[in-house]
Amino acid sequence: MVNIEAVGDNIFRIPVPVPFPMKYVYCYLFRETDGWSLVDAGFHYPDAVDAWEEVFRKLGVNRQHIHSIYVTHFHPDHFGLAGWMQQQTGAKVWMSREDYAMAERVWKKRSDQANQVGVVFRQHGVPDELAKQIEESMQKLSKHVMPLPSLTILENDEVILGQRRWKVIAVPGHSDGLINFYQPELKCLLVSDHVLERITPNISVWPGSHPNPLQQYFSSLHKVRHLDVAIALPAHGTVIGHLRERIDEIIKHHEKRLDYMKSLASDGKTAYEVAYAVFVHKPLTPHQWRFAIAETLAHLDYLASLDELVKEEREGVIVYHFRREDSHLKERKGVGGR
Ligand SMILES: [Zn+2]
Repeated sequence: MVNIEAVGDNIFRIPVPVPFPMKYVYCYLFRETDGWSLVDAGFHYPDAVDAWEEVFRKLGVNRQHIHSIYVTHFHPDHFGLAGWMQQQTGAKVWMSREDYAMAERVWKKRSDQANQVGVVFRQHGVPDELAKQIEESMQKLSKHVMPLPSLTILENDEVILGQRRWKVIAVPGHSDGLINFYQPELKCLLVSDHVLERITPNISVWPGSHPNPLQQYFSSLHKVRHLDVAIALPAHGTVIGHLRERIDEIIKHHEKRLDYMKSLASDGKTAYEVAYAVFVHKPLTPHQWRFAIAETLAHLDYLASLDELVKEEREGVIVYHFRREDSHLKERKGVGGR
């Protein structure tokens, strides 16, 4: 049974199941004067389709009346059902320019992305067997985003959701083109995966995306920290009532992790070795390994961008280490310019 929550006038929070530990992606359905609009669609597998069928029945939604679908980013748990939903409804599907490009790159037929991830990971010390398993697990994801929707690039500063105007806010970090929506009278932020309550959003380096996503993420956190927000509606987990405090916790988490990874890398380590030390408390699946390594890369490359670590190639493998002579002189000050 789908537990639909009304979270404001004409705003419905819909838990759509995903076959991952976070259990649900929360999509938001809005009643308009002339139909319905939707933010995020879900991951394409049978349980999610069943959930949507039930939602349409319960709320009396004529699916032909859903006219606009906004996808906050290209990840499969948000984007995966957009094509199915477009077939059902005939709606326009909107996405940012950056994530439109990533969706094309990652999800198109015969995409080379899995292979490229494998190449990059091997350069960072990932053993060949594991790199292969990671590539295979990536290839399996693509069927969960089929059929692909025909996409329209979202260039507006504002959109109508639930009969009100919401500002479109670019918050790169979790993905290059991640967007949030902000409604000033309601003091409501549709925060997607930018800020989550119990888990920290994954920030990762991938082929074809921004080389320093953690730096982008810090500045995007500061961007929404300035907003007057009474309630933030995330795409996973519970509603957030204290956005600033949660943002500060997340920044602290990354500061600690940066310090730890920097100390691990001191004598020279590959990203794989650092990821192993930080994340492997129990055996990881290839899917978990992929995120562990890409997240480690985001931190190590951030440190390298600040000259706190040196990144260099040694016999075909990339190693991070710090310059002993000046390491004691450099203290990172105010991550992200806080
Ligand atoms: Zn997500």
